[in-house]
Amino acid sequence: MTATTKTKRYFIFSNDRLLVPAEADLRAGVELLSDLAQEIFSEYTDQTVYIHANEHVEHHLVDMQKEKVEHDSVRSISLREVVMLMPKEDFQHVAQAWQYAVFLRTHQFCGRCGSRMDRVSWEMAMHCHSCQHRSYPRVSPCIIVAIRRENKILLAQGERQKESGFFSILAGFVESGETLEQAVHREVFEEVGIKVKKLEYFSSQPWPFPHSLMVGYLAEYDNGDIVVDGKEIIQADWFDIDNLPVVPPKFSIAGRLIEETQKIMAKNSVQ
Ligand SMILES: [Zn+2]
Repeated sequence: MTATTKTKRYFIFSNDRLLVPAEADLRAGVELLSDLAQEIFSEYTDQTVYIHANEHVEHHLVDMQKEKVEHDSVRSISLREVVMLMPKEDFQHVAQAWQYAVFLRTHQFCGRCGSRMDRVSWEMAMHCHSCQHRSYPRVSPCIIVAIRRENKILLAQGERQKESGFFSILAGFVESGETLEQAVHREVFEEVGIKVKKLEYFSSQPWPFPHSLMVGYLAEYDNGDIVVDGKEIIQADWFDIDNLPVVPPKFSIAGRLIEETQKIMAKNSVQ
C-alpha cells in the first residue's frame, strides 16, 4: 500500500444512532466503517465533513440528522452499544464524530447576532460573517470520584437508579471559575455532606452524552456523616469492598475507579 491510498471511514449518524454494516461484529471496532456502501449516503456527499486523518486513514462525518435509513446492508446502533461493544480506543473516534455532529446541529445560527453561521474549512468551528463570532465544539468537564474509608467505598443512588438497584460513585459538573479539585470537594459536600482528603488524579474519559469529559479522582474520607441532598442523590452509604451492590461496568471510568479502589485496599491489607 502506498502512502496515497488512505482508507476512508464514514461515521454516519441518523438521529442519534451510528450506521454500521448489517452483519458487522462490533468487536472489530471502527475498521468496519470502511465497508459502508457509498450508495447509502451518496445523496449526502456534499454534507460530508472531514474529521481528521493520519498516515493510514481518513475519518469523515455524514450527518443524516432526522432521516431514517432503511437499507438491507446497514443497521443502526446506539452510542451505548458502541461504548459497550467496541474497543475502548475506537469508542473515542465515534465519540469525536458524534460530538462534531451535535456541535454542527446546534450551531447553525450565531449566538451573538442570530445570523446564519458557516463552517470553517480548516478547523472544527462555526463562524459568523456578520459579527465575526466563532464557536467551537463544547466540552463540559465533569469530575467523578471514588471515596474510600478503611475497607469501604462510598456509593450512591439517584432517583433514576432506584428501581434497578444500581449504585455508583459521585460525579458532577465543574462550575465556571472552579478548579477540578474544588469541584470534587464541593460536589461531595453538596451531595452527601462529607469532607474528603488526599485527592489523586486517576484518568479521564470522553463521555459524549452529549459532550462531557469525565475526570476521575481517587480520594480518602476525611470527616463528617453522610447526609444526602435528596435531589440528585436519594441514598448513599459505605459499602464493604468485598460485598458491592450492582455497580458500573469496567468500560466506564466509574467501573475502573471502583476497581482501582479495590486494588488500593487489597494492597493496604497485606502491609
Ligand atoms: Zn453573529
